Amino acid sequence: MLKKDKFLPTASLLSCRDDLYELFKSVFEYLKELNPKVSINDVECGDAVYRNGGHVTIPLNPKNKGVLFHEVGHALLADSVFHSNYLSINKGGNENWGDAFAEAVRWLMEKKHFGKSEWLKCFEEKKSEPTTSEYRADLILTKAKYDMVSFKELWLKLTSEFDETKYYLDRQLLNR
Ligand SMILES: [Zn+2]
Repeated sequence: MLKKDKFLPTASLLSCRDDLYELFKSVFEYLKELNPKVSINDVECGDAVYRNGGHVTIPLNPKNKGVLFHEVGHALLADSVFHSNYLSINKGGNENWGDAFAEAVRWLMEKKHFGKSEWLKCFEEKKSEPTTSEYRADLILTKAKYDMVSFKELWLKLTSEFDETKYYLDRQLLNR
């Protein structure tokens, strides 16, 4: 677990840092249950970005704390068998789903910690819009019944049945 002194160190005087650290612990512990390889090495202030190796930056916006869930959520797939880092050739690596999984993690965490939020409202509205990407968080969440326990079961099933073929996740999640 990332120690608090490595968590938003330059924001140490801000009151929202304490809240954010609690939220960080919650999402990190949940991800660890799904994938023990998940690691986050530093969380700093900046644009919302996840970089391989567990480096997260988030903007400090007390009204949009859920960004933290998304960026940390990226580690679920990035540190998994579905990331090309873990495969000798690019067989099975399907990083197209990285953002969708990060959004799905954010949805579950926003629901758990905030119940309602502007972001959750937008998420609902966007579902009915035509989208340019077929890699959508709501496809994952539908399969996971919008529930943390089922999401964990889905993830464990996906990883344990993984056949190391490139379009495995597409077949599982797009019903191909
Ligand atoms: Zn993202």
